[in-house]
Amino acid sequence: MSDQALREKVIQISRLMLSMGLTVGTSGNVSARCEDGASFLITPSGMDYEAVIPDDIVKVSVAAGERTGRRVPSIETGLHREIYLARRDVGAIVHVHSPLAAGLAVARKPLPVIADMCALAFGGQVEVAEYATSGSPELAVNVVEALGSRNAVLMANHGSLGVGSDLDQALFICDLLEKMCLTYYCAALAGGAVPITNEAISILKSGVGRTYGQPGAAKGECLP
Ligand SMILES: [Zn+2]
Repeated sequence: MSDQALREKVIQISRLMLSMGLTVGTSGNVSARCEDGASFLITPSGMDYEAVIPDDIVKVSVAAGERTGRRVPSIETGLHREIYLARRDVGAIVHVHSPLAAGLAVARKPLPVIADMCALAFGGQVEVAEYATSGSPELAVNVVEALGSRNAVLMANHGSLGVGSDLDQALFICDLLEKMCLTYYCAALAGGAVPITNEAISILKSGVGRTYGQPGAAKGECLP
């Protein structure tokens, strides 16, 4: 995808993030790795998502953090950069403040693997990154550590973050995490969640995760 098309896609996903109730106002941030892999595009800091145009999206080099663009990039640009440095498989990142996931993050409790979708989409239990202030280098280190090789992470007293091979997948992860947190709270009311076993997780990752869906179809939004 060209840089111009990717800028438009970043804007589309940021507006969806807002309309889906995953964040409010100008909070949250969205980025995507450019086709050459050496840079990423990220939303500007503190701008109304409905008013953002492609030229407001800032380009940042992964290796050096050099920024190109007329706007100040998201306060969490350093966090996004550290994830792209640590995870070559990550093509896009969405960071939100959705209330149900944030509630778990405030309680500093991980989300266990409570459904097959958690194993397949998140890659395991969603851990909580230790608290650090927004935009700080410490927060970036903590999030990278807690994310590990998985696709979702909770950020203590802050929110959550999803990664994926592309922007649609990263947004899907944030949406699924929000809904799985609701399921987890419902289970608590019903007597307590019972996570699936490690054996079942292994079977899922080696079996259903490879065979579910139509040949050639994108994985993710059609998980069982
Ligand atoms: Zn945030």
